[in-house]
Amino acid sequence: MRKILSSIFGVRSLESDVAIVGAGPIGSLAALHAAKKGIKVSILEQRKEIGFPDHCAGLLSVNGLTLLGLDNLPRNIIQNTEIQGAKFYSPSGQVFSIKRNETQAYVINRALFDQFLKQKAEKAGVNYLTNKKVLDANFDRNNKKLTIEYLDLKLKKKKQHTSTVGIIASGSKRKIAQDSGFKQISNRKYLTGYQYDVENISDLDINMVEIHLSNKLAPGFFVYIIPTSQTSAKIGLASRLKPSIDQLNHFIQIHPTVKDRFVKSSIKKKYSGRIIINGLLRKTSSNGLLITGDAAGQTKATTGGGVITGGIAGTIAGKIAADSILAQDNSRRFLKKYDVLWKKQLLSQFKSMAFFRWCVNRLTDKALEKVFETIIENNIADLIVEKGDIDSQADVLRALLRHPAIIKLAIRVLPLLQF
Ligand SMILES: Cc1cc2nc3c(=O)[nH]c(=O)nc-3n(C[C@H](O)[C@H](O)[C@H](O)COP(=O)(O)OP(=O)(O)OC[C@H]3O[C@@H](n4cnc5c(N)ncnc54)[C@H](O)[C@@H]3O)c2cc1C
Repeated sequence: MRKILSSIFGVRSLESDVAIVGAGPIGSLAALHAAKKGIKVSILEQRKEIGFPDHCAGLLSVNGLTLLGLDNLPRNIIQNTEIQGAKFYSPSGQVFSIKRNETQAYVINRALFDQFLKQKAEKAGVNYLTNKKVLDANFDRNNKKLTIEYLDLKLKKKKQHTSTVGIIASGSKRKIAQDSGFKQISNRKYLTGYQYDVENISDLDINMVEIHLSNKLAPGFFVYIIPTSQTSAKIGLASRLKPSIDQLNHFIQIHPTVKDRFVKSSIKKKYSGRIIINGLLRKTSSNGLLITGDAAGQTKATTGGGVITGGIAGTIAGKIAADSILAQDNSRRFLKKYDVLWKKQLLSQFKSMAFFRWCVNRLTDKALEKVFETIIENNIADLIVEKGDIDSQADVLRALLRHPAIIKLAIRVLPLLQF
């Protein structure tokens, strides 16, 4: 197939049909689905070892994994198979729970997850080129080919890789996306996230993720506790404040609603990373190029999670890139099918989550207390259990906005909002 296409295209000299920048989960999923269509796919990755260092909590919904065809993850990748819901805490410690009878999400080891995806993609024929830091990607309109310039970090030499189509999946690093001609995600859309792996925590429920809200402690986000056993958890915080590491330490050592639970605890690992909130790019294709995953801001504005939503978009990107090779058309006219398809599947969800995040960001801690009071008094958690889904949050948000108690609440908290 490749030989026939190459001779028709006259591109015998190209190193790959589709070249992907970045071997995170989204790059690997795009690669896997492109390679499944029988074309030649390479991934250029700056790291020496895929997945390391790790920078993610790894909370992934079971439904989302099924949608990505990843419902049969090897057991060693999964750290907790029993997440059934979440407990939400107000700044003063009011709490409500959203819990279902069945497992809703897994906690996975992100480094092993990324390696598992790499192995799957390699089996489908994808060529991983590690230690290659991409510097630039340029499409030549005359030859209709893409030239990727990279630094070979082992040989310390600049080199080039040519392909017919490229997919930028470089995560939250902005430079490549911007240099390849896509709109830059504004700096304001990035939050710095810090996470600790902590042992010997008391009062942990292995079935429940904890979300601690406070616009004083974590403005623009929240603190999460994601259990990996009865006594250990990943504890993280992101915020618009810099540096937010102080807020995470404050939470563990001083925060009145939790500090007693950490008296005997010890921190085993510390990590940090960038979380993108409301940074969605609308134009994600150009001649010979697509952009996907965190690089395209395809994360949930409510939580910053991007493995499932980015994975859905990345899968589409890989398929469309392969189709463009098979159709011998790498123009934007063809490739923008990718924009159309991911928007059809995800855009209304992204918009609802962006609106929800916009509202929550404006709630002072006093207003948050009133929201919790209303939810608890009116059993609104039951409505969320009925309509909610970790990845598709539009339905539950619509139902909430129509609830009489929420409408009344909106009128009460309006004077407490900060703009
Ligand atoms: C603290 C924290 C916790 C999180 N928790 C969750 C969670 O629980 N659930 C969830 O769904 N999401 C979570 N996320 C978000 C999630 O990590 C991202 O949405 C996801 O990693 C996006 O995948 P990606 O493949 O687009 O990017 P990445 O995973 O960032 O992968 C990009 C890859 O591109 C490579 N790269 C970058 N630039 C270049 C270059 N110039 N040349 C070559 N290679 C390059 C990088 O080395 C990297 O391997 C969390 C994020 C943080 C920071």
